[in-house]
Amino acid sequence: MTTLSVMKVIYPGSFDPPTNGHFDIINRAAAIFEQLEVVIADNPRKKYLFSADERFEMITTMVREFPNVHNVQVTICRGLIVDFAEKIGAKVILRGVRALSDFDYEFELSMMNRALDPKIETLFMPTDQKYFVLRSSGIKEVATFGGDISEMVPPGVEKKLLARVKQPDK
Ligand code: ADP
Repeated sequence: MTTLSVMKVIYPGSFDPPTNGHFDIINRAAAIFEQLEVVIADNPRKKYLFSADERFEMITTMVREFPNVHNVQVTICRGLIVDFAEKIGAKVILRGVRALSDFDYEFELSMMNRALDPKIETLFMPTDQKYFVLRSSGIKEVATFGGDISEMVPPGVEKKLLARVKQPDK
């Protein structure tokens, strides 16, 4: 029987920008699963503050600094997540959930992915309460209005975000 501990798992998201909440999920998942692939969704219909390459750079830089974590890879995906999962042989999509309000959306998304490919399962990991209110969109707004985001994102991300909201067209 294949156990969870030998599974390759993907953790997809926009990560625009990645937050301490995302990094907490990455850290905790890396301790459970054999291989964790963080998948940066790059949907041409969506407008991002950071390009896929910038999001890739922010996540890889941070993950490299995690002590004793060597099983995390980062990739950019421009198609369906289930197709990507099939391509790399991952059977599980991991999603983080915060409040119950996340659950509606996450549950629907998991049903959609299951309809697209029933071989791929979605698992949910609850947020640590420290990160309960962290949301990329909210953090961008706080940064835009000059609020303190130093507890919400790592220093490298904070620097890039502050520079970007000052020059939103860059
Ligand atoms: P968001 O813009 O809501 O942060 P993402 O698409 O970037 O969304 O998030 C990717 C995944 O990480 C989703 O499953 C999302 O629910 C989860 N996530 C986002 N923020 C947190 C957090 N603070 N704690 C736990 N999981 C989170």
